[in-house]
Amino acid sequence: MSTDKSAEISVFKRRESEARSYCRGFDTVFKKAQGSELTDERGRTYIDFLAGCSSLNYGHNDPDMKEALVDHISSDGIAHGLDLHTDTKGAFLEAFESHILKPRNMDHKVMFTGPTGANAVEAAMKLARKVTGRTNIISFTNGFHGVTLGALAATGNSYHRGGAGTSLGDVTRMPFDKYMGNGCDTADFLEAMLNDRSGGMDAPAAIMFETVQGEGGLNAASPEWIKRVADLAKEHGALLIIDDVQAGCGRAGSFFSFEDMDVTPDIVTMAKSVSGFGLPMALMLVRPEHDIFGPAEHNGTFRGNTHAFVTARVAIEKFWSDSSFQEEIAAKARLLEVVLGEMVEMVPGAEIKGRGMMQGVDVKSGALASEICSRAFQKGLIIETSGNEDQVVKVLAPLTTPDATFRNGLSILLDATREVTDNNKIAAE
Ligand code: PMP
Repeated sequence: MSTDKSAEISVFKRRESEARSYCRGFDTVFKKAQGSELTDERGRTYIDFLAGCSSLNYGHNDPDMKEALVDHISSDGIAHGLDLHTDTKGAFLEAFESHILKPRNMDHKVMFTGPTGANAVEAAMKLARKVTGRTNIISFTNGFHGVTLGALAATGNSYHRGGAGTSLGDVTRMPFDKYMGNGCDTADFLEAMLNDRSGGMDAPAAIMFETVQGEGGLNAASPEWIKRVADLAKEHGALLIIDDVQAGCGRAGSFFSFEDMDVTPDIVTMAKSVSGFGLPMALMLVRPEHDIFGPAEHNGTFRGNTHAFVTARVAIEKFWSDSSFQEEIAAKARLLEVVLGEMVEMVPGAEIKGRGMMQGVDVKSGALASEICSRAFQKGLIIETSGNEDQVVKVLAPLTTPDATFRNGLSILLDATREVTDNNKIAAE
């Protein structure tokens, strides 16, 4: 096989669909990964602050998960089990119950959906409609919930919506927290609309949101707003769906992004880092009284990714059996905020967005954010943007990133920002 980079890459350009995306910004061929680093075919190593868009919260190839998976495969453990009872599914459920659900007083049932975030969201929206007999679902500006048609109807981004090719219905969009600036509580608006019999909004089956909008620009709702919206859902007979696909599994600071906010969602959707190893796996948590889908009513061949159950169990036992990992995340998030503060100083008008290990900087220009990310890549850092104009440089480092690597990655980000802003100043003079 040729080692020439352009030749290697040409097969992607020649044969891979134009729908490919992340690979356009990181134009090399990756070969190996360990912890928070990726290595390409030429042997160049990059620090990974994208982490599979939060699918690799525990880093690449965690040694304990890898060992358990290799053991499972070498002992002819089941690879595919539809939704049959398997030892690995049982062990995952036991671990999830004892380390995650019970300590948080959550009586939710676990429903395995098809293995993508979008499929968990589809299941959640369908279930809420079935439970309430209503069709309308309230979602929010800048929310991202996936690109299958049901989930896409709840997604705000017009580029993704444009790919639907059909009408996207039965969703009412409301302004997310601080959408109208700090002076306006958008929960007041939601309350007024729900209470006004002439407001024109059909009674909702569910109110669904991300507590921190991952793709929408790291908009973090305040705990007060979240609590108010949760209370409004209850008052109006709507289910509360929290989409924790991106913000969950520790990313926003705790296992669930809504902890310590005095809210109990009726449904929680999870995917991305739930398998721990980057393997496809999704689930939804449902309050028992709403667990009313009949057998296979929402089905899917890949509901039981048995390999993912193996690694997901290890992830839960290794990282969530006590509070030490959560404390580490908090320490890292504090450092992140300090460094992002330095980045903000370099860009006029910039601001820090997000919370926990899901923070970034809104540099107020998609072009500038993209320049910063490309410069960072040249310097050996993989980092992406988010937001309605792609104007937010978003740090999604693995939560397990060693301190030295984390600091190195952040200093590359600062250098890249400095160089890009200095160049732009010179060009303007
Ligand atoms: N919900 C949220 C909050 C997400 O961030 C995403 C993916 N970015 C999805 C749903 C969809 O997940 P998937 O890409 O696995 O379908």
